[in-house]
Amino acid sequence: MISVEEALGILLSNLPEKEVEQIPFHSALGRILAENLVATCDIPPFYRSALDGYAVLASDVENTPVELRVVGESRAGGGMPGKLESGEAIAIMTGAPVPEGANAVQMVELSHLSSDGRKVTITKPVKAHENIAPRGSEARAGEVILDSGHRIGPAEIAVMATFGYSQVQVYRKPSVAIVATGDELVEFNKPPRPDQIRNSNAYCLASQLRYMEIEADYLGIARDDKEELRHKMLSGLERDVLIITGGVSMGEYDFVQDVFHDLGLEILFSKVAIKPGKPTVFARRGDKLVFGLPGNPISALVTFECFVRPALGRLCGMKSPELPRMMGELLADMKQTPGRTAFLPAWVTWEKDGWKVEPLLWKSSADIIGFTRANATFIFPKNRDFLSRGEVVELMLLPDFFVRQR
Ligand code: AMP
Ligand code: MG
Repeated sequence: MISVEEALGILLSNLPEKEVEQIPFHSALGRILAENLVATCDIPPFYRSALDGYAVLASDVENTPVELRVVGESRAGGGMPGKLESGEAIAIMTGAPVPEGANAVQMVELSHLSSDGRKVTITKPVKAHENIAPRGSEARAGEVILDSGHRIGPAEIAVMATFGYSQVQVYRKPSVAIVATGDELVEFNKPPRPDQIRNSNAYCLASQLRYMEIEADYLGIARDDKEELRHKMLSGLERDVLIITGGVSMGEYDFVQDVFHDLGLEILFSKVAIKPGKPTVFARRGDKLVFGLPGNPISALVTFECFVRPALGRLCGMKSPELPRMMGELLADMKQTPGRTAFLPAWVTWEKDGWKVEPLLWKSSADIIGFTRANATFIFPKNRDFLSRGEVVELMLLPDFFVRQR
């Protein structure tokens, strides 16, 4: 059985090349740039006033108060102003071009305009260059302003608009199919027979994908029947990534791995020292990736976050898509049988002196109800059988950690 770290190593060395696509810049929120963007002009494109006031020559206002002749106005979008000579001032608004000849802007609050509007008294000196953003001071034409690999947020969208990028090249999101397996499963809108349960994993996984901004195709439930599994898997293999849940362990009716073999998939690992989620399978066929996640609901959820997320995030162009880790202080003693790295549900809160980790009761890896109270998992190292209250443990935060409320 390989360790979680070894499994991740195998996974990451078996990812296909990322693909790119061209999309409208305003649809690119949350995507990863697949090209360097360069400034298409200087920004600001002219010497720009930072406030409302008067453009002046600093040497004219060294001794104040001083009266200057108002010879014009420069407002944002009002054309380029004329030249300023010594002894003159030009009224100027925020964002407007500073006239040639002026080298400072004094704020309107430090001035008095005469009643006829022809003269202004500047009441305090202003230094040369003050309140002026020089042309090109934020970006020079031709300079790289966003690197390939940069995640696109609202500020990046603003930058694309600033430089007139109507289309940008981003990494293509992989297409993903989900298949649930099990004779015992019915859909949420059907009454289960006494021996049946409702399928929850497909909807959980689709939601986890949605947190990664990936919309999956759910292909329905495959019975524990090789022909039916084969049929569903073949349509799943039309996508870039297929995620199957259930049917991967050692039971009499766990046919998923057999069908992987029949379909010529290369199985790269099929057992990981992780708890929950030991029977996790990772396989590929050419550039297609296939994950066989265990059927138990928490196992499926945790192995998605530990293995599927790092792979899919990288296909989307992210450099480190793993869920954030941090350290916190355990609030209770914990026991386990050593041998597997455990990811156990916890409620983590900030207190004055650090992060506190309250382990949550969960009945088994089937207990998805218990897991709804968690905002993180804490990691029980595989070589330990006991953790004492007060020990500092590693946490893996769930994707909605910062918005979850108790
Ligand atoms: P399996 O991995 O197929 O052996 O299933 C392990 C456990 O998970 C069994 O109790 C299944 O009934 C349950 N299970 C499997 N698939 C699902 C699913 N899609 N939704 C909810 N529970 C499931
Ligand atoms: Mg099953």
